[in-house]
Amino acid sequence: MESNKKQTAMVKFYNREDLPLELHKVRVVQKLFLKPIEERLQAIEEAGYNTFLLSTKDTFLDMLTDSGCNAMSDRQTAAMMLADDAYAGSQSYERLEKRVKALFAKEYILPVHQGRAAENIISQTFVSEGDQIPMNYHFTTTKAHIEINGGTLHEIYTDEALKIKSDHPFKGNIDIQKLERVIAEYGVENIPFIRLEASTNLIGGQPFSMENMRQVKAVADRHGIMIVLDASLIGENAYFIKQRESGYENSTMGQILLEMADIADIVYFSARKLSSSRGGIICTGSEELYDKMRDLVPLFEGFLTYGGMSVREIEAMAVGLEETLDDQMINQSPSFIDYFVRRVDALGIPVVTPGGALGAHIDAMGFLPHVPQEDYPAGALAGALFLISGIRGMERGTISSVRDAEGKDVLADVELLRLAFPRRVFTLSQLEYTIDRLKWLFDNRDLVGGLVWRDEPKVLRFFLGRLDAKGDWPIRLMEKFRKDFGDSL
Ligand SMILES: *Cc1c(COP(=O)(O)O)cnc(C)c1O
Repeated sequence: MESNKKQTAMVKFYNREDLPLELHKVRVVQKLFLKPIEERLQAIEEAGYNTFLLSTKDTFLDMLTDSGCNAMSDRQTAAMMLADDAYAGSQSYERLEKRVKALFAKEYILPVHQGRAAENIISQTFVSEGDQIPMNYHFTTTKAHIEINGGTLHEIYTDEALKIKSDHPFKGNIDIQKLERVIAEYGVENIPFIRLEASTNLIGGQPFSMENMRQVKAVADRHGIMIVLDASLIGENAYFIKQRESGYENSTMGQILLEMADIADIVYFSARKLSSSRGGIICTGSEELYDKMRDLVPLFEGFLTYGGMSVREIEAMAVGLEETLDDQMINQSPSFIDYFVRRVDALGIPVVTPGGALGAHIDAMGFLPHVPQEDYPAGALAGALFLISGIRGMERGTISSVRDAEGKDVLADVELLRLAFPRRVFTLSQLEYTIDRLKWLFDNRDLVGGLVWRDEPKVLRFFLGRLDAKGDWPIRLMEKFRKDFGDSL
């Protein structure tokens, strides 16, 4: 297995340690507000310690998600002005179609309004009651669409995948023996497809290797099962293959993307992550598979030449996909994440390693060992970090899970605070500020306590639920902040 090569920017420094270097300049800016800690306390109290319920006017660095909030390039915004408004037969769509074909070499293309719409169409078409779907790991919307159609998920990741500390370069790999076992146990007739998710989102944006993909393909071919590739984070996965897998050092991004797409029978993606800010695509080389899915596009999305997207979004997407071929463009996000994760790790703060594709993940149980899992340590850590810094992360732990039939909490495998890095949005000094405040919080972690429900919705409680701090720990944390930082924001 390859060792995890150092992955900072390609530029070497002369008189200091290497840093990731922004290979773009900022030409449009948005003013941010960093409010005093007293106002942040009021905001997080009102939000019920749920960062989804904070307003961006109270937030300094918005690290909630990378979805739909990446920075666009000048070429993308320029293309939006050239959009050809037409219900059918728009030239904008023709440009997008040409671009997708060049990128993935798939002849048949279906446009959709975002990633989950692709999942709706694929699941409605291919998944029926009793079906079993093996995959490296689920994504929330994927799981919902497969289950609503009567399917069951089998997450057949390797033992490395859920380890917090690891130097494995491909934690998103499928365990081939587990794949063989699922096929033997349930039978090929009940397995409509194997799903591979590039840069596996929920385990920290971790990639799979081309070698693993080829092994999965060999098994799939032997049994006649098709492969569906979720390519929402494929740019970074391809970049990691180039960086970490031997034999690909000299390949271009375009060659790697083509090789990945060639292994899959169906490729789909959310353009909220890949390329632009809205939209999605399903593509395939098979006319038969295309015909099966096609009629659902006008039913759920819109006509076949816009699929629920505006022509401006279509233009931005076409240019964004072209920019995915540029590894200096793609490496900006992973190299900043890599730098952040290395720095945080060196400070002794528990963080998922190695750095992945879409953000950094702090291990809340390691950070707050005195907060029992029943008191939601990842939620408490998200609230505490916002309070002392104005940085908004996302709880990915037990609050994001559901209760069992008896109403008991199902404790999550891992309690993570995710700090997403929207692509090309933050500067290095903003990352340094984040590292600095995390370090202060870590040194004062004994002051942080747990959370308890104030108002708990029955479904998707992590979106709309509100919690209270157990005891007065936020006030004590604020007092310590004032003592150490004086009147600093
Ligand atoms: C975001 C995402 C989706 C869903 O896409 P939306 O555009 O949010 O509907 C599916 N798969 C992966 C891997 C994602 O990251």
